[in-house]
Amino acid sequence: MTTTGGSIFDAMLQEFDGAARILNLEPGIWRILTKPKRQIIVHCPVQMDSGEIEVFTGFRVQYNIALGPAKGGIRYHPDVTLDEVTTLAAWMSWKCAVAHIPFGGGKGGIICDPTKMSRREVEALTRRYVAEIIDAIGPEKDVPAPDVNTDAQVMAWVMDTYSMHLGHTSTAVVTGKPLELGGSLGRREATGRRVMLTTREAAKHVGLDLTGARVAIQGFGNVGSVSAELLAALGAKIVAIADWKGGVYNDAGLDIAALLDHAKIHRTVAGFARADPLTNEALFGLDVHILIPAALENQITMANAGSIKATLVVEGANGPTTPEAHRHLHERGVFIVPDILANIGGVTVSYFEWVQDRHGYFWTEREVNERLEQKLCEAFHDVLQTSVKYRVDMRTAAYIVAIGRVAAVTRMRGMYA
Ligand code: GLU
Repeated sequence: MTTTGGSIFDAMLQEFDGAARILNLEPGIWRILTKPKRQIIVHCPVQMDSGEIEVFTGFRVQYNIALGPAKGGIRYHPDVTLDEVTTLAAWMSWKCAVAHIPFGGGKGGIICDPTKMSRREVEALTRRYVAEIIDAIGPEKDVPAPDVNTDAQVMAWVMDTYSMHLGHTSTAVVTGKPLELGGSLGRREATGRRVMLTTREAAKHVGLDLTGARVAIQGFGNVGSVSAELLAALGAKIVAIADWKGGVYNDAGLDIAALLDHAKIHRTVAGFARADPLTNEALFGLDVHILIPAALENQITMANAGSIKATLVVEGANGPTTPEAHRHLHERGVFIVPDILANIGGVTVSYFEWVQDRHGYFWTEREVNERLEQKLCEAFHDVLQTSVKYRVDMRTAAYIVAIGRVAAVTRMRGMYA
């Protein structure tokens, strides 16, 4: 069943196959779970501020909906491909299963560079994209959310466009919305909070004291910046952060609040005065206890895995480590908390948001954070116990938990034909 090749879908399949083999998954279910249920490609014409008409290509993939409506973000990036969106939709299926929430997996993306577009152009593109995929989404069908380069405002436009077509307001069609429009307290910080909580649990497990522990983080977006803030609050020393434009290093620990102010103005950490400059590559080889890749896919590869000195790697991003690099690090005794366990805070609070929207009754931030922590502990220990039971690494264990849950409901539902 294993396919080899260069695509990230193939890399995901390698991880899937390893776990499916251990589970003795029957070939029929294996075939179902390794194919996307639905892939939609749309072309969206947009009148740009210059008066020119541009046509943007967008995707929405619903990978598996055995557990419930498809769930997953929409990303805006020049390098988006159907292969990437399909893989991310598959990961969402496994993430929702590991998180134990009643959703399947979906993902969307548009090939565009929002950093070079005006807000009006981004709004027009968002509305046209939603209009093109409108029949496929809905609170019971497929519920989008923010992802790379999309935020609460973009989600408000998604909600408004969908509602305009429907003729009434439907808040539960999308999550990660502004608070005033049915968003949930704690949603923006959720993935970073979960990365922090996971790091705390994993550090406990490997016997690492977080107070004074040296941490390097790749990415200073929603996930990286919140993890940095919360880990610093726990006493960890964030010595290095790198983003798309460059990095910064301070041996005594970076002042995260000041760095946030800098990044707000310059949209990058690069150029921050109270630190030395650092390249993205150098970040991976730093003498740190904890490394948190919280940017894009394929960042830890065989080209830099050998230089990694961290004993704990917590994957804030989706798919930051290639399968070969993962094997190499695991053999060297590095404890890796996989993406499908570490970065499920966003989708877990998205689930809480969807529940609150459907009830029309909203929780306090404390309730949200307590429920998030409770779900995290449950998932972390399910995966840890599985890794002990099958004597496998945490990634394989997370896949075993996810595949086991999706396979079980697929068998129960049976075949419709
Ligand atoms: N884009 C986020 C993720 O990859 C959130 C998805 C969601 O909330 O549906 O987990």
